[in-house]
Amino acid sequence: MNITELARRLRVPTEELRAKLPELGFDIGEKALKVPDRDVGRIQWAWREYKKRAYLQKKMEEQKSRAERKQKVQEGTAEKVQLPTVMTVREFAEILNLPIAKVMQELMRAGILASLNERIDFETAAIVAEDLGFIAEPAEGEGQEEAEGVARLEEALKSEAKAARTERPPVIVVMGHVDHGKTKLLDQIRSTNVVDEESGGITQHIGAYQVERKDKKITFIDTPGHEAFTVMRSRGAKVADIAILVIAADDGIQPQTQEAIDIIKAAKLPFVVAINKIDKEGANIEKVKSQLAEQNFIPEDWGGDTICVPVSAKTGQNFDQLLDMLLLVTDLEKENIMADATRKALGTIIEAHVDKGAGPVATILVQTGTLCIGDTLGINGYNYGKLRAMKTWDGQDVKEASPSTPVKILGLKDTPSVGDIFEVPEDPKLLKKLKSKPSRRTGVDEIVVTQTKAKPSEEEAEGTEEEQVTLNIIVKADVLGSLEAILGMIDQIDNPYVNVKVVSKGLGNVTDTDVLNAEATDAVIYAFSVKPLTTASNLARDKDVQIGVYSVIYRLFEDVVERLKLLIPAEKVYTELGSLKILAIFKKTPKGSIVGGQVTKGKIELGATARVLRDGQVMAEGKIDSVQCGKVDVKEAQQGEECGLGFVGKAKLEVGDVLEIYTEEMQERTLEVEGAK
Ligand code: GDP
Repeated sequence: MNITELARRLRVPTEELRAKLPELGFDIGEKALKVPDRDVGRIQWAWREYKKRAYLQKKMEEQKSRAERKQKVQEGTAEKVQLPTVMTVREFAEILNLPIAKVMQELMRAGILASLNERIDFETAAIVAEDLGFIAEPAEGEGQEEAEGVARLEEALKSEAKAARTERPPVIVVMGHVDHGKTKLLDQIRSTNVVDEESGGITQHIGAYQVERKDKKITFIDTPGHEAFTVMRSRGAKVADIAILVIAADDGIQPQTQEAIDIIKAAKLPFVVAINKIDKEGANIEKVKSQLAEQNFIPEDWGGDTICVPVSAKTGQNFDQLLDMLLLVTDLEKENIMADATRKALGTIIEAHVDKGAGPVATILVQTGTLCIGDTLGINGYNYGKLRAMKTWDGQDVKEASPSTPVKILGLKDTPSVGDIFEVPEDPKLLKKLKSKPSRRTGVDEIVVTQTKAKPSEEEAEGTEEEQVTLNIIVKADVLGSLEAILGMIDQIDNPYVNVKVVSKGLGNVTDTDVLNAEATDAVIYAFSVKPLTTASNLARDKDVQIGVYSVIYRLFEDVVERLKLLIPAEKVYTELGSLKILAIFKKTPKGSIVGGQVTKGKIELGATARVLRDGQVMAEGKIDSVQCGKVDVKEAQQGEECGLGFVGKAKLEVGDVLEIYTEEMQERTLEVEGAK
């Protein structure tokens, strides 16, 4: 047979095979083009054995170096690293001076699924750093740049020269329990109160929007659920001026309502209660009011000062009144809702993602000052580039953005994180410092990432524990915009060990074809704001295909994450127990062999794994299914003892072989994705 053909069958480069053959006992000559046909079978067998051994060798080295790292950390002799309170995965890898892929892998082992630009906190990072053999300490003066940014923003908002301050639109955030109608309420306001219908622009989901009521603008943070909390809480800097606390009249105060109430109280945030779903049977406005009273939020009509507006986000009932109440609160809070439009801009990142075509895209909320085309954006002390274009939520190109205006910007040098403070430096020195600092995006990361995205080769995947788990999905959505948004979010799941594969995507209802496709690819179907056709529903039931119907992107995403969690294999915890030297081979058994030997280190245990070492090389692995000391069955044998041992495995053991005994216990993994519950 041609050696190239054999190499192809074994999936190995010809050169490598040719070089390795003599070592495997086949002398075919350095320049041989053919191997004798009678050797082909034996070569294939030997090659597989060789690969298996190489894999076991690698596994052993990894297990040992992990154990060694752990020990160093425990003894306190490991290298110390200083970590900030929060950092992106990329920054974390930089601090540890390790390849991103390695750090992501370790995060994954710890059950954390985070992409490059996602933030992890000190506690998480410290655990992972220890797994990697570092001792983590809080960095001194850590997060200084960030803290400075927050401080400058707060300072600017507080102390701006009274004379220069003018009123700005209020920024509203919507909070409340899941399914109480936050999204619907935001949609209702957006669709009925468009600023300028003749603008001809296209409404975009950019994470915030503005409406106009009685000649006054109102800015809404347009993110559902606890994303809104995150934005609201943004590193201590206040983003929202007023909250709408949504409570469904048929459900009353629920855990997330309580969470929102606690935040409102702690932040002394002015708020208006929207008692929603009053169109529904079972709506009980009075009950909600009494629950509020229990929280010391006494409704106005009960003699208190908590503003409650009963609304229906479905029909739009009382929405004018709701907006009027927001304007009323704005008026009461007038002194606090001001900014200096004449200074350089400062504000917060509301939304950020990487667009396939356009690169990093972010929505920023200008909180004070005016943002102008040509300004240089600084985020956490890094230069994110010059502002070349910006768009409002309704798609209009603008040259300037005044306080409380949300704008979408493209062409940043890097993707910021939600909650980051941006600033256009006023101080020329700061600007110079910024400019001298390159963006964090380095070419090297990019290469690493693309490499880790590649699927492991079959040889590598064979028998390895860290195979990539893939969740196949089919996405159907109502409009292109939401489809893209969903795919964008899914795209963020950027990790070498879990992978979501979109096997098919499209617009419109879920059809029979989608179900058959899902069956064939073992995929889950996600329907966003569309439904399965009745026939498709029935077919799905027959074929056992799952269809998830969602109206909130974020929740769809959470379901994807939940499913990934189920797919992730449990982590194995490796413990080395001891070793035994084989002194005699007693007999062969159907499952393996019975041998005799002496425990030279530690102990051996019934049920543990035995790694066969010959001249320091791993030959094979097997299990121990019996231990006998002086003809008595025992559970374990200690160092120095001689014992008989049942070895389960194909390996042919020899006198002089060393069995290294270890256990691997499964440990449940948890999976966290930034932002997902
Ligand atoms: P969120 O989780 O708070 O964002 O809740 P959604 O806005 O997604 O609403 C949850 C469900 O309640 C959806 O099916 C909405 O259509 C429905 N819903 C929201 N507001 C109302 C309302 O005022 N009346 C009725 N009947 N249904 C509503």
